[in-house]
Amino acid sequence: MTDLVTRIRATVRDVPDFPRPGILFKDITPLLGDAQLFRDITDAIAAPWARAGITHVAAIESRGFLLGSPVAQRLGAALVPVRKPGKLPAAAVRESYALEYGSDTLEMHADAMPAGARVLVVDDVLATGGTAAAACALVERVDALVQGVGLLLELGALNGRSRLADRRITTLVTF
Ligand code: AMP
Repeated sequence: MTDLVTRIRATVRDVPDFPRPGILFKDITPLLGDAQLFRDITDAIAAPWARAGITHVAAIESRGFLLGSPVAQRLGAALVPVRKPGKLPAAAVRESYALEYGSDTLEMHADAMPAGARVLVVDDVLATGGTAAAACALVERVDALVQGVGLLLELGALNGRSRLADRRITTLVTF
């Protein structure tokens, strides 16, 4: 695992001032572009949840899709896309959340998972936690059960865990 942390740290690309001045963007595309590392990170995101009885992975658009899909397959779980507004064709539930400036919205099909489903929320980066918290709220809106949140990277200084209260959160690397 330590070796995996070292490989991730060595491979993530920091892009300053993207998408806005002052943001240090963690670019995960070099991780996805290394076949063995891509395999190893998705295995490692899934591993802590292997005995959690996960039935559905809720993957957050868009980089969460890239990681959530293989994680769902590892766990033998269904995949549910949590999308930006206006993308889903059928009836959807929606959740808006505050950003530093303005707000954002996520949507999920209302029939995407049954009441009582055991759900792992997956995304690439935990920053302020607003995105993951909104995805958890969507899952609970349809009476499914959030078992926790699985992420690749965590930006510790932004304290996203505080937005996720008592939820179980797993991350591979904290910056
Ligand atoms: P937040 O809601 O603040 O936790 O932001 C998390 C979402 O924004 C995730 O979907 C990330 O992909 C993206 N994100 C936020 N900050 C960064 C960053 N510094 N580098 C890469 N992605 C980020």
